[in-house]
Amino acid sequence: MGQWNLAETTFGLAKDEAYQVAVLPVGACEAHGCHLPYATDTIQTEEIMHRACAEADSRGAEVLLLPAIPYGVNENTLGFKWTMSLRPSTLFRVVTDIVSSVEHHGIPKMLLINGHGGNEFQPHLRELCRQTSVEIVLANWYTCALDAHEAIFEEPGEHADEMETSMLMHHRPELVQMPLASDGSTREPVLTAMQEGWAWVARPWDRFTFDSGFGDPSKATAEKGAAYTEAIVERLAQLLVEMSVAPVDDMYPYRED
Ligand SMILES: [Zn+2]
Repeated sequence: MGQWNLAETTFGLAKDEAYQVAVLPVGACEAHGCHLPYATDTIQTEEIMHRACAEADSRGAEVLLLPAIPYGVNENTLGFKWTMSLRPSTLFRVVTDIVSSVEHHGIPKMLLINGHGGNEFQPHLRELCRQTSVEIVLANWYTCALDAHEAIFEEPGEHADEMETSMLMHHRPELVQMPLASDGSTREPVLTAMQEGWAWVARPWDRFTFDSGFGDPSKATAEKGAAYTEAIVERLAQLLVEMSVAPVDDMYPYRED
């Protein structure tokens, strides 16, 4: 078994390792309804990636899990007290510097794994791809197993909803304050184009929601959280195994023929 967890290994244990894939989780620090902790997105992302990296390592993948970035882009949710935010340009600079460190140490590939909807990295990666030799794959863990989401959960939502509450009940049950939960209802937009879903705004979260929750968490259970975590971990472990063995050549990430 390799030294896959950078936060917990030592120079003495890891200095002779050869890693193929660095894994960088990105979370957030924001109000999650009245019943889930501020670090909800970071906790979920770290838990999932601990399990996915351990699994990938046990299947022979050469992965190195980096400590998670515990802040995300929350400029539009600062209306909820104690939420902390990085501007997108700041987050991009942090990611750029970590990618530069990964490149310095000769790790050829990276998985950037996001756990917060406000963190959008595509424009940054379009810019970064010509500035680094590190081949970066981007994924949101909350969209990698939508089929399992549909099979497991009953109530639609986005934030501190049935899904996120179930995940925390499974990962950190002692942090969930169910008596404080609301029904997660939200306000309707006045613009027809927004009601129809084809016009976008950076939603001012304190106007859109009542307590920052979006989606009814009342049907959440730890069992649902366990089942969803398992589905996501399996998919991400498989991705890491494939990334680890994929040769970085002129055609990466495509086949020659
Ligand atoms: Zn969240």
